[in-house]
Amino acid sequence: MTSEFPADYAVWHGLSPMTDFFRDADPGQFLVSGSGNHVTDAAGRRYLDARSSMWNLTLGHSCDPVKEAMRRQLDTLPSGTVMRYEHPPVVAVEYAARLAALMPAPLRHVRFGNTGSQMTEAAAMLSRFHRRMTGQPDRRHVIAVHNGYHGTGPLATALTGEPILHEWSAPLDGYVRHVTAPTLPEVLALVEEIGVEQVTAVLVEPVLGSAIGAVSLPFLESLVTECRARDIHVIVDEVTTGAGRTGTMTVSERLPVAPDMVVLGKGLSAGYFPLAALVVATPIFDALADPPLRLGFPNGSTTDGHPLGMAAGLAVLDVLSADGFLAEVRETGRHLVELLTGLAGEPGAGSVDGEGMMLALGLVHDDGSPWSVREVNRFRLTCRDHGLLTSYAAGFLPLMPPLTLSRAECAELVDRLRAALRA
Ligand code: PLP
Repeated sequence: MTSEFPADYAVWHGLSPMTDFFRDADPGQFLVSGSGNHVTDAAGRRYLDARSSMWNLTLGHSCDPVKEAMRRQLDTLPSGTVMRYEHPPVVAVEYAARLAALMPAPLRHVRFGNTGSQMTEAAAMLSRFHRRMTGQPDRRHVIAVHNGYHGTGPLATALTGEPILHEWSAPLDGYVRHVTAPTLPEVLALVEEIGVEQVTAVLVEPVLGSAIGAVSLPFLESLVTECRARDIHVIVDEVTTGAGRTGTMTVSERLPVAPDMVVLGKGLSAGYFPLAALVVATPIFDALADPPLRLGFPNGSTTDGHPLGMAAGLAVLDVLSADGFLAEVRETGRHLVELLTGLAGEPGAGSVDGEGMMLALGLVHDDGSPWSVREVNRFRLTCRDHGLLTSYAAGFLPLMPPLTLSRAECAELVDRLRAALRA
């Protein structure tokens, strides 16, 4: 097969069909600048960015507090690490404390990384490491959800519940099992089948964002209770939902009982630096901090706790914690849902799901069957032609605009979407 890529095009796009890019797009679409919640391409066309870069640019391109904090950090201590404990940058110590204080107790210990994939892997490994070190070596199985998305590192790919990814790339080690339907009885049945004394953790997204639209996991609260009763760790993957995306700092904070670990990423730095974090409950940390276990969790990378990410993260927390900011995200979300619901009757428009700035518009044929991923991708290109950037997925259009979307931009988003549907 001959490549359709021009010979001088050197970017290899991750998680993308190898050749579709140049079949579907024109190089004029390369983005050259961003301002507020809009971006401009090489041909001078302006788009409303309803995907927030890759769901992470939560405060738009013009967030001065974040830019200024990063510039100040560049001029004081531009690099550093918390891998190994010898000389942690003070900004990492400060940021970890601020972040931990915003998490539901007893989630108090922050392991920094750069990507969501890296941190979901760290969570699963930490759960197993904890068992190994506390005399429960048989607890090795991690249960995840079919259609859940947790990233594409080797273990993260295994945790992700999309079989196509397993087929091509995952070294499934036999210890990751998926429930086919995201229901509590299925999870508990699988725990029984494996044997409760062999299960270490259940990993879930509080909102199944990547695979089936912005659909909330209805049983998260009972999952935590049931798992606690069986001494199974609950790891909540808030890479997408965290940092304000659904109108609260995390979804986990709404639970009566906190999970054992929460994974954060994407919006933590508002997309200004690759930053992710695993926040761990005190009992797990304390068990490993016990003198005989001083070896420490063998997991870390060179740029963990990089000062530029820490400075960005601190500035983002200032914005998210400002009076009324998250309430406004919830309110704008409700307003946008109302406008999107008004698309009913337009060709293809289906149900609207989600909350805050994590929404999804179902796309259906006249007979009610969902559009295929190829059809939605074609529609994404139509949206682009109408000045609107979105992601695409089988059966729905993910809408993940910046949290700073104004009412006028809500109207702009829906007008552009309506025009694309009619086209
Ligand atoms: N977990 C969830 C819920 C995600 O949505 C994503 C990315 O989309 C990841 C994990 C992986 O994060 P990253 O792409 O930063 O590796």
